[in-house]
Amino acid sequence: MTEPQLRDQPGLDVPEKIEHFIGGRHVPSVAGGTFGVADPVSNQVYAHAAAGTAQDVDRAVAAAGEAFRGPWPGLAARARAKVLNKIADGIEARGARIAAMETFDTGLPITQAKGQAARAAENFRYFADVIVAQHEEAFSQPGQLGYVLRRPAGVAGLITPWNTPFMLESWKLAPALASGCAVVLKPAEWTPLSASLLPEIMTEAGVPDGVFNIVHGIGEEAGAALVAHPGVPRISFTGETTTGQVIMRVAADNLKTLSMELGGKSPCVIFADADLDAAVDSALFGVMSLNGERCTAGSRILAERSVYDELVARLAERAARVRVGDPADPATEVGALVHPEHYERVMSYVSVGVGEGARLVAGGSRPAGLAEGNYLSATVFADVTPSMRVFQEEIFGPVACVTPFSSESEAVALANGTKYGLAAYIWTSDLRRAHRVAAAVESGMTWVNSHNVRDLRTPFGGVKASGLGREGGQHSIDFYTESRIVHIALGDTHVPRFGA
Ligand code: NAD
Repeated sequence: MTEPQLRDQPGLDVPEKIEHFIGGRHVPSVAGGTFGVADPVSNQVYAHAAAGTAQDVDRAVAAAGEAFRGPWPGLAARARAKVLNKIADGIEARGARIAAMETFDTGLPITQAKGQAARAAENFRYFADVIVAQHEEAFSQPGQLGYVLRRPAGVAGLITPWNTPFMLESWKLAPALASGCAVVLKPAEWTPLSASLLPEIMTEAGVPDGVFNIVHGIGEEAGAALVAHPGVPRISFTGETTTGQVIMRVAADNLKTLSMELGGKSPCVIFADADLDAAVDSALFGVMSLNGERCTAGSRILAERSVYDELVARLAERAARVRVGDPADPATEVGALVHPEHYERVMSYVSVGVGEGARLVAGGSRPAGLAEGNYLSATVFADVTPSMRVFQEEIFGPVACVTPFSSESEAVALANGTKYGLAAYIWTSDLRRAHRVAAAVESGMTWVNSHNVRDLRTPFGGVKASGLGREGGQHSIDFYTESRIVHIALGDTHVPRFGA
């Protein structure tokens, strides 16, 4: 019943074939290979995408290298910013289409996919502003002046995951292009559809041929070839922690600069003095939005014992009413999980939780009336303890784990009790405690009395197993450029006279 609506979305035109984009041309793989791509509602293959190999990566890096020797990196910042603003225009003009494609390919609810498309355009506009406002440091001391020359790093390899594909691609493309790099993008193989709009957007905006390239393909083949390529000095990767570890090992051979945005198991800590209505809204949204396939999901809800039973009851009651269904339906809150393999993985965690003795208080199974497609009811486990796998491991689905705590120090210990450290959410009305806990929680990003509201200027990234390096604002420009210091003597410098 759901498939026709998904296919009938306004603006949705699904190609049967998705090719690479290299040197300004759509091309198949050199070896001719393809892989099937399915939508998560019917799980039927809707298109065949070019399966990139090392040969395709070689071609793309050669095209990018040639473009990098052309005018693009030397353009005035204003000239590149104009192109970035035109890319943003192109995204906005296609906003409905991008969202429809994203919903079709990923199973994200359409209202949320629209928000992601708008954010993608904003990323390009924002980095257009950043690059125009960019200025360099100078260091003055008696007798010597130093100043920084900032240069684009070269060809950047961008490797992205399937959870919010178009937005995350824009998150890397915008600063890389703003900085003057040429890029090779390797989109996630489960969700290549929305990226297939990028070539026409880039070309229309005036991005020179070869500056922007896409190689589709399986991570272990196309992605690995990009990471191993000596002509790619930067790799920006977003994905699983274990993949990040493999990439670091391979990149070591060529001493590449890496940015690693990895997994998370973020805590949402709710103290008894918090605005509990707002905390419940935020906790539920934080773990269920984007189907729970969200790196910054607050998937561990830590609740102070005096309000624990009440919070568990309220979360369970609200979760039971979360609307799970056709991603194309504007009323849907949780859509279909991206792929049957991922669905099986998330479902296996439900069994693991039950087996470990966690108390299932909502969801845990396929919703009634949705016999096909990768659907799971919004799921809440209570009485989750730190030794359980569902407490420790990233599930990446609409599954919340609730754990009680009795003191501030126990809350902090629980919050820090996993290998991850991406985000944290703290709910309290005690200002001093908010600052204390924010400082004590091991996370790259912490929100107090808020859900995940991003300010594009701020550093984005994780500590511990959640990542290396920061992106966002100036941090992204630092990543895609090299800063070189020039020292100039302003007079005669005393030099010790060896051998005189
Ligand atoms: P994944 O690691 O399986 O794949 C990510 C990308 O890496 C894909 O394009 C894939 O093809 C490629 N890849 C896989 N193996 C590779 C290899 N050996 N060499 C080079 N490339 C390779 O991740 P996923 O399942 O697509 O995404 C989900 C994960 O991403 C979750 O862990 C989530 O937390 C994380 N994530 C993190 C952030 C963040 O900013 N920290 C944001 C979104 C998602």
